Order: sequence, then C-alpha cells, then structure tokens
Amino acid sequence: MKVHEYQAKELFEQFGIPIPEGKLANSCEEVMAAIEELGLPVVIKAQIQAGGRGKAGGVKLAKTKEEAQEIAKNMLGKPLVTHQTGGQGKIVRKVLVEKAADIKKEYYVGMVIDRAQRKPVIMVSPAGGMEIEELAQEKPELIFKEPIDPFLGLLPFQARKLSFKAEMPVREAAKILTSLYKLFIAKDCSLAEINPLILTSEGNLLAIDAKLNFDDSALYRHPDVKEMLDPLELDPLEYEAMKYHLNYVRLDGNVGIMVNGAGLAMATMDVIKLAGAEPANFLDVGGGANVEMITQGFKILLSDPNVKLIFINIFGGILRCDVLAQGVIEAAKQVEINIPVLVRLEGTNVEKGRQMLNESGLNFIVAKDISEAAKKIVETLGTKE
Ligand code: GDP
Ligand code: MN
Repeated sequence: MKVHEYQAKELFEQFGIPIPEGKLANSCEEVMAAIEELGLPVVIKAQIQAGGRGKAGGVKLAKTKEEAQEIAKNMLGKPLVTHQTGGQGKIVRKVLVEKAADIKKEYYVGMVIDRAQRKPVIMVSPAGGMEIEELAQEKPELIFKEPIDPFLGLLPFQARKLSFKAEMPVREAAKILTSLYKLFIAKDCSLAEINPLILTSEGNLLAIDAKLNFDDSALYRHPDVKEMLDPLELDPLEYEAMKYHLNYVRLDGNVGIMVNGAGLAMATMDVIKLAGAEPANFLDVGGGANVEMITQGFKILLSDPNVKLIFINIFGGILRCDVLAQGVIEAAKQVEINIPVLVRLEGTNVEKGRQMLNESGLNFIVAKDISEAAKKIVETLGTKE
C-alpha cells in the first residue's frame, strides 16, 4: 500500500525525523490560509502517489501571495502527468504547502527489503534529488549500501559509516537513519525513501520529500496506516476487489478472467494471448475462495465496460467446483449479463459443478478443456489481426 507524501511526513514527525513546517490544503482558500500561518516563500506540492512531480510542474515555489494563488489554481483539480502516472496523469486533489527551504546540498536516503539477502538494506548517496534508478545507471559508485541484520537492527557504527560516505553531517544524519529504520520496522514498510534529504543553509538536515510503501500482508496490525489509504488513488474496480481480498489487477484487453491460483492465472493469460485475444484483468480468487468472493469477483468482471467475454478457469482443489458454480450462478442472478461467459472446470466435484451450470438456465458456455476454451474465445471474439 502507498500513501501520500503528507501522510508519510506525519509518520516522519512521529519518529523524530525533521520535516519542513507545512499544511495540507484542499482549495485555493486553504492554500492562502496556510500562507497566513507559514509566511512566505512557500513550496506548493501536488499530492499524488507518483514520483517525478518536480520535473512535471507538481512542485512549485511561491514568493508572493499572487504567485501562490496562481499556482494553486493551476494545480488543484487538474491532472498532473509525470513519468510514473501514465499519459492521463492523476488528478491533484490536495496540495501540501510548506515553508520553502534553502537548499545547500541534496542527499538520497532509501530503505528496501533485499530479497536475495533476506534483509533490509539502507542506501544513501551524496547525489540526491535524482531518481534512484537514474542514479544507479549513471553514478553507481555514488550509492552506498549497508545490509541490516534484522535481529541486531541498524547498528550505530553502520549509521555513522553511511552518513560519512554520503558526506552528510555525521551525528545528525546517523540519528535520522536510525529513526527511519525504526519507522521502517515498526510500521512494516516495504520501502522508505527520503529524496532529497537536504542540508539547509543554516546547516540542518531536513526531509523535504517522503515516500513510504507498506507491506499489505501486515496492514492488519497497523490500523493507523490502513486508515491512510486513499481510495481515489486506486482503480475503482481494484479498490472493490481489495475489500473482498481478491487478487485483482486491471489490464487493457477485453477477456475478463477469473482463475484460482496465480500460476493458473498466468497460464490462462498466455492461452488467451496465444488465441489472439487480450486479457482484461488478472483475477486470482485464491484456493480458499468462498461463494461471496466468487460472487464479488464475477461482479467486478461484469462491471468492467471493456470486458466482452468472461473466461472462468478453475482447478477445483481446495475450492470445489460446485462451490465455484454456486458463486457464479448467484452472481449471475444478481446482475444482468449480456456478454458470453465461458467456464472450464476441472477437479473436485467437477461433474456436480458442470451440472449446476448447465441446469442453471443461464447461458454459460462450458468448455471441457483449455484448448476448447481457447477455440471458443476465438469463435466468440474473432482474432485481432
Ligand atoms: P518529486 O519530484 O516528486 O520527487 O518531488 P520532491 O519533493 O522531491 O521535489 C522535487 C524537487 O523540488 C526537489 O528535489 C528540490 O530540488 C525541489 N524542492 C522541493 N522543496 C523545496 C524547497 O523547499 N526549497 C527549494 N529550494 N527546492 C525545493
Ligand atoms: Mn523526491
């Protein structure tokens, strides 16, 4: 799960990481009110969950009230396109107004879990402000890394070594690294980034940007983080799927799929592509799917206007074929279906499942195996040239 910069900064504050004084604003009036409180100059920052805002015009300095008004007016309610948003961009609904900092130097600080090492890794660089991917390409010698033993945590000498290598004021920087590591562990982050951490002209360190991602599987123990979820940042169908613990990713094609197991889902997508069609989504209902999950998953596929055919491909192991059939039939009764629904079942209680589908009075196309299913997809949709 991702959060906005202003939310990440709330957590920074809780953990003692220095941030600029700032206020969140939803409207031009609130921007002006924030300026009354903060004084000028301020930086106005678009709150969208994508990087590269600076280059795209989503981070602007305002020296006067008139400038601030103009910036706020042009930012709020408008889409912002950065290299991470895709062509349509993301609508800016909130801006963060912050006291502008006087930057003497910019550093990079990042933390991720290194799966190969099975440890958190801290990365720092004296070349902050650049995207880390770019930095890794162009100046890999300027990135300094330190793996952290999860049982020992970040040791003081490691924090000092990293700070020294990145040419940061060591004592102050080591404190910030230690606090960020505490936050990273305490909140089950999958990524924490300060880019840039800056040295101000007064000689202080300040986190002027903040990015935190969280491990979805650990959200149950962080209600405060879970509450930060901004549904408007998600695809509406993906948000709906999340509520029912469905593994769903929306794609560009027109064949909606519902499958159990990620491996089967990928194989199914391959079959659809080989048949010359394109999947409209990835939907893995998982091994333990119940009738409600099936019903909701099916409804999500039906509410995607791009979907011209639904292909349900289930291997009934833990999830029995009759349970699947019951879920599909129930969902079909609750919503109007005017597209073909192709079903291929195999496994536990398959005969019962097929019989239920055939006797449901609903117009399911039942395929006996995957190659027959592929043929039916082509027959129904035709192939793209
Ligand atoms: P990002 O582009 O989405 O990563 O947004 P950032 O918050 O990192 O801002 C982009 C850039 O704007 C930073 O790298 C800084 O160079 C600049 N910037 C942000 N805040 C300030 C500020 O308070 N003062 C000055 N002078 N520059 C700032
Ligand atoms: Mn940044």
